[in-house]
Amino acid sequence: MSEAIISNGNTCPVCFQGTLHRRSKHTALEYKGHLFEQEQPGDWCDVCGEGILNGDDLQATEPAWLAFRGEVDREEGKALARIRHKLKLTQAEAAKLTGGGKNAFSRYERGEARPMPAVLNLFKLLDRHPELLDDLKEKLTAAEVLAGIRSR
Ligand SMILES: [Zn+2]
Repeated sequence: MSEAIISNGNTCPVCFQGTLHRRSKHTALEYKGHLFEQEQPGDWCDVCGEGILNGDDLQATEPAWLAFRGEVDREEGKALARIRHKLKLTQAEAAKLTGGGKNAFSRYERGEARPMPAVLNLFKLLDRHPELLDDLKEKLTAAEVLAGIRSR
């Protein structure tokens, strides 16, 4: 296999100084502000710390990483639903406020679609300052009135 060219005992192809050693290294990946820690097998350089990962190395950790990301996405959806209920908004109203299609919020909340960061940030702000929603609702109503006038 071509992977044998860069493996245990060979010179690091990244820094050309260190030697690669086959071992598991404690690594941490970040997803949307959440840390995922794992033991990643690979050929790790003893100088620069870079790792050469073959297909098996990646496959060893991929399922847990994908499951972690899925869980973060589901938690995000649950948080959106909680905040929307707190604000007493329907999914359609929430979609209108954030500019999504009419089914956008039900898809976000079920974890079927990922909201833009702006949507998450707006809802986090409204969670802490729900009184700001009144201001948004006034603007929304005014915009709808204007749109109604134009469409006549
Ligand atoms: Zn190196």
